[in-house]
Amino acid sequence: MPMFVDTSPPGHCIFCKIVAGDIPAAKVYEDDLTVAFMDIGQVNPGHVLVASKRHAVTVINLTPEEAAAVMQTAQRVAAAAQRAFDPDGITLFQANGEAGGQTVFHFHMHVLPRHENDGVALAWPRKEPAVHLLQGYAQQLQQALQEQTAAPTV
Ligand code: 5GP
Ligand code: ZN
Repeated sequence: MPMFVDTSPPGHCIFCKIVAGDIPAAKVYEDDLTVAFMDIGQVNPGHVLVASKRHAVTVINLTPEEAAAVMQTAQRVAAAAQRAFDPDGITLFQANGEAGGQTVFHFHMHVLPRHENDGVALAWPRKEPAVHLLQGYAQQLQQALQEQTAAPTV
């Protein structure tokens, strides 16, 4: 069973239509693998989404080249946002799967200019498990990493 169910086929989702130019978007930047455009729901002025051009649902479905390209575009856009909007901070945020907060199931990363007391809440309830539990989590991940022959793609 796939980890994330793709409810909208490639080419038919809202971001594929933006990539294709079939629906309008305020584009900021594009290259071979990525496109950056204004989020229609601006949390703060200058809130941009960096999407893969190819339809991939989550970070796990990106190729290594796409993953690298997305971060490079996010870095460029963040630097431009710093210059253009002079924020106090910038949050990069990226959600995967409904439980992870994803609402559009085509990979994208938010580049969000932040300001002191802007009211944006990213407060996570944290637990501080015992050291042996942390070591157990790390071992689970190390084993999973060893089992991966290559980064999974769509
Ligand atoms: P997510 O919740 O998946 O991390 O983010 C999806 C984002 O896509 C939301 O912030 C939402 O405002 C934005 N969005 C949804 N539909 C459209 C659209 O048609 N155009 C643009 N530019 N952004 C959209
Ligand atoms: Zn798509």
